[in-house]
Amino acid sequence: MKERYLIKPKGEVRLAEFAPDDCGGMNKKDARKILKADKKKLRDLQAKLYAGQKHALLIVLQAMDTGGKDGTIKHVMSGINPQGCQITNFKVPTPEEMAHDYLWRVHKAVPEKGKIGIFNRSHYEDVLVVRVHNLVPQNVWSQRYDQINEFEHLLSENGVYILKFFLYISKEEQKRRLQARIDEPYKQWKFSRGDLKERAFWDHYMEAYEAALNRCSTPWAPWYLVPADHKWYRNLVVARIIAQTMEGMGLHYPAPEPDLDKVVIED
Ligand code: ADP
Repeated sequence: MKERYLIKPKGEVRLAEFAPDDCGGMNKKDARKILKADKKKLRDLQAKLYAGQKHALLIVLQAMDTGGKDGTIKHVMSGINPQGCQITNFKVPTPEEMAHDYLWRVHKAVPEKGKIGIFNRSHYEDVLVVRVHNLVPQNVWSQRYDQINEFEHLLSENGVYILKFFLYISKEEQKRRLQARIDEPYKQWKFSRGDLKERAFWDHYMEAYEAALNRCSTPWAPWYLVPADHKWYRNLVVARIIAQTMEGMGLHYPAPEPDLDKVVIED
């Protein structure tokens, strides 16, 4: 699964050639079983990560509006110990954040050793929404791809494993999901007219995503392109890739104090 959805470094992925409704020939029932097993694995692996305090894992989630970032967090991460997990939502920068370089707020939110950090949006907004709306001049945002690669390299050299997921939905699926936010009372709170404005820039966003995926998928911080029209398949793919990555991290509980068998606990 990792290989199938990995963006090769210096890749030339064209989103138009990729099917957001792909479900890898799998059915929902089997997928549910695999997801359940992977969630159990994640719980066990996280316990070791937390106990070992040697590495951190940073998971970046990016998507168009309604793309499923919140749902992915809810369904994939729900089994793990909240104490070892931190979620950061990146919104429009505050005046204080704007007064610093764009990575300032990001670096502060990187998980400490022992923890899993989830970025719900991330520094990639600075080459996505910022690029699409020219919030800074082109000569400024165009330098950011290399800067981001270097920043992520620094993190990786300091014990942070990085996984980046683009949850890719089709424009038609976004329409269905936006409509559901209008029609279903319990979803109405999520609807914002601003989302419709952004939808009008769909093609520009796809171009910006292609650039981010192709220029910033590196051996130390790979991008995965996740077909996300089917929520059950999206959850499965993300959980599988996180579990496979953590299995490769060589996690284990720290060695116990010596001679534990000789310890007697007095009444
Ligand atoms: P979400 O859609 O993630 O649930 P919001 O509806 O509050 O949360 O949207 C957050 C908004 O903040 C998005 O429109 C996103 O593009 C914007 N944003 C995030 N980072 C930046 C940034 N660096 N510069 C400008 N806008 C940003």
